[in-house]
Amino acid sequence: MKLPLSLASLLFALLLALPLAAQQRSSFDYGLVAQEIAPGAYVIVGLREDFSFANGGNIVNTGFLVGRSGVIVIDTGPSRRYGEQMLAAIRAVTPLPVVLTLNSHHHPDHFLGNQAFPQDTLAALPDTIAGIRSEGEGFNDNMYRLNGDWMRDTEVVVPARAVMPGRQEIGGRDVELLALGGHTAADLVVVDHDSGTVYAADLMFNGRAPTTPHADIARWLGALEALARLPARLWVPGHGEVSTRLAPLHETRDYLEWLQATIRDAAEAGLDMTEVFALDIPARFSQLALVEIEFRRSVVHLFPAAEQAALARAQRD
Ligand SMILES: [Zn+2]
Repeated sequence: MKLPLSLASLLFALLLALPLAAQQRSSFDYGLVAQEIAPGAYVIVGLREDFSFANGGNIVNTGFLVGRSGVIVIDTGPSRRYGEQMLAAIRAVTPLPVVLTLNSHHHPDHFLGNQAFPQDTLAALPDTIAGIRSEGEGFNDNMYRLNGDWMRDTEVVVPARAVMPGRQEIGGRDVELLALGGHTAADLVVVDHDSGTVYAADLMFNGRAPTTPHADIARWLGALEALARLPARLWVPGHGEVSTRLAPLHETRDYLEWLQATIRDAAEAGLDMTEVFALDIPARFSQLALVEIEFRRSVVHLFPAAEQAALARAQRD
C-alpha cells in the first residue's frame, strides 16, 4: 500500500507543478519599471523579499543616470534576464550609449546581470573585482538553487576596469564615486551632484533587515557617518524604497548597533548559538522585512568571531 500511495501523491504534486512551471517559462518577465526620481536619475525598485522561484531574484534596487552624452548604470541585477530587461527599460528612456556600468559590491544580486551590458563599460572597486573573481561562480550556482530557471544562461562576468573614486564628469553628468566599505570589503556609493541623488548601495537598507555575510559592522557604521555628511536630497538604498529623508540611514545604523551589541553581549555571557537565536528582537525592528531570518543569518556570520574575541578578553584579564 505504501508505494502506490506515495506514487499517487508524487503524480498529484507533478500535475500541480506543471502548469506553474509552464507559466513561469513562458514569461520570465520581471516587470521592471524605471522611475525617474529626479531629472535624469532613475531607479528600478525591487521587492523586499528573499530570493525565490517566484521573484527570480528581483529583490534589489538598480539604477541609472542619463547624462548629455551617455548613461551610467548602477548595478545590473541578479541574472542575465534581469540585465537584458534592465537594458530594455533604459532603452525605453534614452537611445544614448551606456558609457559606464558599475557593480556597487560583489553580492550576486548586484552583478549577475553584467552579461547584458557592453563589457568594456563594466567597472567596480578593486576589492569588488577580486570578490566577484573568487566568489562569483559559487554565488551563481547558489542563485540557480534559490531562483530556478530565471537564472538560465547567467554567467559571471568580472569587470575588467577598476573605478577611480572622486568627483568627475561621466557621460556629461557631474558624479562622485565614493569608495567605502563595511557591508562588504568594498562598497561603491554614487553621488549624482546634478540632482542631489545618492545611490548608497547596500550600506543603506530601507524597511528591510540588513544582510551581513561579509560585514565589518564597525567599518559599516563609519561609512554611514560619511554618508550622513553628504549634501543629498534623495537616497536610493540597496534594498527598499527611495527616501527624501535620512530615516533609512538612521534605521540601518540603529539595527547594526543593536546587532553588534547583542552579539557581543551574548558572547560575553557565554551563550551558545541556539540561545542567541532565541533572543528577542526589539519591537522597533518588527516592521523590517525578513528581520527574523536575517538576525539568525547574522548570528551565524558574526557570533563565532564574537565568541573568540570574548575568550581572548577573558584570557587576558
Ligand atoms: Zn549586498
